[in-house]
Amino acid sequence: MKKLNVPEYPSIELFDNGVEDLNAAALSPLFLANRQAVQDAYVDFHSETLTQTWSNLPKARHGHPTAIIVGGLSKENLVKLYDEGVVKSKGQARKIYDSIKLAAHDECPYCGGVGEIGSLDHYLPKARFPAYSVLPSNLVPACDVCNKGMGSNFPSNPNLQPLHPYFDAPHFFDEKWTIARVSQETPIVVSFDVAAPPGWSVKDQSRVAQHFEDCNLGERYRSRVWSELAPLISQRKSTLRMLDAIQFRAHLSVIATEPELPINGWKRTLYHALAASNWFCSADFTAPTPHLP
Ligand SMILES: [Zn+2]
Repeated sequence: MKKLNVPEYPSIELFDNGVEDLNAAALSPLFLANRQAVQDAYVDFHSETLTQTWSNLPKARHGHPTAIIVGGLSKENLVKLYDEGVVKSKGQARKIYDSIKLAAHDECPYCGGVGEIGSLDHYLPKARFPAYSVLPSNLVPACDVCNKGMGSNFPSNPNLQPLHPYFDAPHFFDEKWTIARVSQETPIVVSFDVAAPPGWSVKDQSRVAQHFEDCNLGERYRSRVWSELAPLISQRKSTLRMLDAIQFRAHLSVIATEPELPINGWKRTLYHALAASNWFCSADFTAPTPHLP
């Protein structure tokens, strides 16, 4: 998980620009007549943000495009405003979209950069919360895997809400809640899991567990292991051969504590486990038994 700054645009700015860029002049009066109602809905979003209880916000039913959502605006209107007024815009709305996307520096905040940014994810899916289809702080740059993983549903139970890269508390981003285990096998097996600090609330422990599952982090972290371990073991057999186990552990710990990497990302979690493994730190990889696949 990577923390991102909240987009610095006034809440209504993307709505205004989207309406202007939407190639549907006949709809403009309807949007403008309901501008205040949309702003009122944004106040509700920000009020739930204070307690991270977005699950309290009213959900639209699946389907039902003509259902009225905000003032006189239907789900269809609000989704169209995003799809055509923002994503397909050639004007200011698209510039805002692109700048929100670029702020992630191409690293998906949900998976800590395992995936590259594909598009903007609606934290509250637009199919269920169309009122927030163009609210900048509901738009989070995400990779396609995380975006799909969280899907178009949003839990009604606040304990199961995915982490919000803009609004969730610092401890989700600063404290360790992922763990890896190294198994002495040929080839070496590293598995990843959730391990929230025991002092965390039930809600916070449950949320990170759900986030880990939604974004399929166990499997996706594991998929990165060999691209890192193979060159590391190769170095251990050559340039790092002179280090004793304590020195090698210190070498691994530098990456395990690298502040520029997400604390719960795959790389720091992997190195943390490698540094903690007495076997890995003292193994003789030059021995005849091959450790590489
Ligand atoms: Zn991702």
